[in-house]
Amino acid sequence: MKQFGYRDYISQSKMGSRFLSALREGRLEGTHCSQCDIRYYPPRANCKECLSDENINYIDYSGEGKILSFSEVHVPPAGFERFAPYTVCVIDLKEGGRLVAWINQEGEPLKIGEDVRVKPEVIEEDRVTYRVIRATQSKEITKITTTEIEPKFRFKKLQGKVAIITGGGKGIGREIALEYAREGAKTIVAARTLSDIEAVVAEIKEFGGEAFAVTCDVADAENVQQLINITLEKFQQIDILVNNAGISRSALINKMTDDIWNSVININLTGTFNCIRAIAPYFMNKRPFGGKIINFTSTAAKYGNLGQAAYAASKWGIIALSKTAARELARYKVNVNCIMPGYIETAMTADTPLVYKEETIAQIPQMRIGFPIDIAKVALFLASSDSDYMTGSVVQVDGGLRM
Ligand code: NDP
Repeated sequence: MKQFGYRDYISQSKMGSRFLSALREGRLEGTHCSQCDIRYYPPRANCKECLSDENINYIDYSGEGKILSFSEVHVPPAGFERFAPYTVCVIDLKEGGRLVAWINQEGEPLKIGEDVRVKPEVIEEDRVTYRVIRATQSKEITKITTTEIEPKFRFKKLQGKVAIITGGGKGIGREIALEYAREGAKTIVAARTLSDIEAVVAEIKEFGGEAFAVTCDVADAENVQQLINITLEKFQQIDILVNNAGISRSALINKMTDDIWNSVININLTGTFNCIRAIAPYFMNKRPFGGKIINFTSTAAKYGNLGQAAYAASKWGIIALSKTAARELARYKVNVNCIMPGYIETAMTADTPLVYKEETIAQIPQMRIGFPIDIAKVALFLASSDSDYMTGSVVQVDGGLRM
């Protein structure tokens, strides 16, 4: 998926210099096609719909934005430590584009769906600090720093697709469910805790997406078959399966109980197998052929980790399982790939002692912990047609930690 940093946008786009001037003058300038009534941010020289440049006008977006989603993070990026705790926030510029941003909230917290005003404040190398103002007040409530602009002038990447995300109630799975739904997919959010998955579905519905919550324990093959059946009943097709559900339980090998070993292997490895086995017949009989399976491994598989014999073994097993499934399902145009996250800020890593956390971050060349959105972006790429010629791959997303 193409992500534009400001520097890329400015150097690659014909409109880049005008865009930069607007930022310098404190405006968020985009364009609007008056014939099709479509807005673009960053600006676009011709309309995506009518392809004409005749009805394109410049428009100042500085007053218009809506909060789409938040994820709480506790270890900020390098240079921003003093602002912790942080929130990663997506702001929708009223059909005109999207800002994926770090946000440090002061005063009463912003809410999803809330209207805000966004104005650029300071421009550094490839980073802009924005001032975000609650639309109903004139008072500045927060500052946002972003390095990314996500143009929305393209078609949504997963429009017309149906995706199942296991472990979608929290952390990485939650962010993938939100990202897929923002990109047009009808999304089945599955996990064992109903309140979590219902909350994610509510968030998706709030921005106009389609989603449905299904409770499922991936370690239980019957449960998984029900998940597939319910999805087909609800949406009549499946295009994407994300096997994200996983647990981590640690103990040194000499102290590892059968219960720890079995629960980790049963959920992580057998759970992933259960889901692939349950969906395989559907993909083999689907016409036209086509599907994407995305499995979750970990850098712990490749390098091992103290106390994580069960976890690392389950995650290495997932790689072998994925490569075999990739070979078996390639003829049905099903791509099977793995994401190998490094150290990501979620409930799974929340209990890590601060000292260990800081030590790990010090080893990461990008000098920051990863966030669910970093993984969701790669999961979007692997679910979209952009990755059609990839199968059996393991994509490592770790800020360089284990390169
Ligand atoms: P979280 O603990 O934040 O979320 C895990 C999700 O999986 C929850 O929604 C949980 O919900 C669900 N889940 C757990 N067990 C089951 C089960 N038996 N059946 C169905 N759903 C289940 O984890 P992360 O978001 O951090 O991790 C997501 C994936 O990424 C995992 O596979 C993990 O191993 C992998 N990963 C994470 C890394 C990290 O640093 N965070 C690093 C490398 C890999 P519930 O308990 O309600 O079922």
